[in-house]
Amino acid sequence: MRIEAGRQVSDAEWAAFQAGEPTGLVWAVTTTGIHCRDGCPGRPLRQNLRAMDSRAAAEAAGFRACRRCGGGA
Ligand SMILES: [Zn+2]
Repeated sequence: MRIEAGRQVSDAEWAAFQAGEPTGLVWAVTTTGIHCRDGCPGRPLRQNLRAMDSRAAAEAAGFRACRRCGGGA
């Protein structure tokens, strides 16, 4: 089940995510229903990622913390 929440990821944000650079964002993966921190080793596809402002917002939307990275801030 896809969860639609958050907003589209910009080119700059995607570049930062891939590089593991801090963005302060929570990365929500719509296809798996998890949220990740910057540079998650799970490497989700950009088309499935949404940017969210906080862990609380992600969890309120129904996302759970990623088991690989512990979830976003
Ligand atoms: Zn993760």
